[in-house]
Amino acid sequence: MRLLVVEDEPDLLTGLTVALRREGYSVDTAAEGEEGLYKALHTDYDAILLDVMLPGIDGWEILRRLRLKRATPVLMLTARDRSADRVRGLDAGADDYLTKPFDTPELMARLRSLIRRSLHHPQSDLTIGEVSIHLAARTVTRLGKSITLTAREYVVLEFLALHRGELVTRTALYDHLFDENESTLSNILDVHIFNLRKKLGQNFILTRRGHGYIIE
Ligand code: CA
Repeated sequence: MRLLVVEDEPDLLTGLTVALRREGYSVDTAAEGEEGLYKALHTDYDAILLDVMLPGIDGWEILRRLRLKRATPVLMLTARDRSADRVRGLDAGADDYLTKPFDTPELMARLRSLIRRSLHHPQSDLTIGEVSIHLAARTVTRLGKSITLTAREYVVLEFLALHRGELVTRTALYDHLFDENESTLSNILDVHIFNLRKKLGQNFILTRRGHGYIIE
């Protein structure tokens, strides 16, 4: 899952980025409004964390302009705990709202829930055939037995599973699983898919030649 964090306080931006990467997200960042809006409009993020008070254009204006073009889930971050702001945020098309200072575990839980809802999976467990994916704990079992996956293998599996029944192109996987700073070898994805099949069954992830991958 690839996220955009728009936040002008350097310590908070760095702290959030580190915490989110540790959870396995790919993270792009913007420290001011124009850059945030540009990235939000031009990349298909799984969710955006958007600070309200920003230099340049503020979070409200970014949200307003984004909503003319995209339905990307947005979690607004604000220093003010005023219900008028909350109402304004939700009316403007924010999907959720968090007041600073916030707890990292709460942020992570809300983010997971936001992404699941946007993909129409309100449950936090996903069972497909022999395989169960526990999205909150980020663990996987096959026939009840725990399966050890690398962080990357997990995010590939999670993305395909949340888009179950849809053909996911290689481009989409690269766009959603790697951030703007990562240079990746083109064969890395094949290695992850190879390993996932070894662990979860050869036919768990199907290849559509020249198009991409699908979990039926
Ligand atoms: Ca700010």
